[in-house]
Amino acid sequence: MKKARLPDGQVLLAHQYKKDEHGAELLCADPDCNAHMGFRREALTHGSLALKSAHFFSKSVKEHITDCNAHEELAIQAKHRKSLVQAIREGKNIVINLNVRLMENFNGVAGALVCQSSTNDVRDYAAVGARNIEDMLDYIETITEKGGDAARAKTRVNYQGKTLPLEDFIIDSKDKFRTLLNSMYLTMQSTPRQIKQHGPDNIHSVQEITDFPRLIRFSATEGSREGRTKALRGTPINIFKKPGQRIVLLQRADTDDKFRQTLRGEVVHLIARPSLHWHEAQRARRELDENNPVVFLDMHWKVVSATQFTPDEKPAPKNAPDKPKQGSLGI
Ligand SMILES: [Zn+2]
Repeated sequence: MKKARLPDGQVLLAHQYKKDEHGAELLCADPDCNAHMGFRREALTHGSLALKSAHFFSKSVKEHITDCNAHEELAIQAKHRKSLVQAIREGKNIVINLNVRLMENFNGVAGALVCQSSTNDVRDYAAVGARNIEDMLDYIETITEKGGDAARAKTRVNYQGKTLPLEDFIIDSKDKFRTLLNSMYLTMQSTPRQIKQHGPDNIHSVQEITDFPRLIRFSATEGSREGRTKALRGTPINIFKKPGQRIVLLQRADTDDKFRQTLRGEVVHLIARPSLHWHEAQRARRELDENNPVVFLDMHWKVVSATQFTPDEKPAPKNAPDKPKQGSLGI
């Protein structure tokens, strides 16, 4: 949204807003609506994507009054939610189309093993489109609230013609990270690496192992700006392979500089494509086989634009104690 209202009633355009001058409290521009708004500065995006201009966003779309006239997208969202609630009530399958631009290369080496190739075999489904992470979180909340686990189990996320169950799409525990890692290693094993040759074919050789996009809760680590690579580092995940051996899964969000500044020290929700460098994944595999007690592995979360992350207002949950468990590759 382009406009928001200050507590004193003044209405501002997004490019006029300055936090130091106007304060952090922002409300919906409609004087009768007291929905809370957030602000996102102008941000460049990777590759050929356009500049995303400064804008205000709803912290929770549901806070807007039914006839709010400031939220230009509210009517469309309300319609989507209504059809979603209707579908849940009828026990239909739900497909959330992920209409977000992500880094290239998805279909090349993505985890074909975990993805269904199309939604055509899912009959009697209702589809909704998520254009950004707020849409996605909003749909998940609605599905959970109105239909519980049963509705969640009937929901799949569709991206570029491949779908994944909602529960696999959300990475919110160590076990989910473990499953993801196993899936990526299975992909690596089943993808023959092209032998290096001179000539144009060389550029097609596989440099990374990737997988279906995921929704993760990312905790940006304080102070990583000083690091050599200037990557946005997240809290590492410890995965125990067996007693006396663990994998330290380093989290790294590959984002634009501006997002790195914004995210410093914050907890955010992120939609991103996970990726491992081929050489690094091989090296870690070898170190595991050699029984190294600690094996580091760098997970890259490929983030393209501001539509793919959003601040998380909730306090961080306490970490559950680690329990060694056997995955498909024993990790
Ligand atoms: Zn409103």
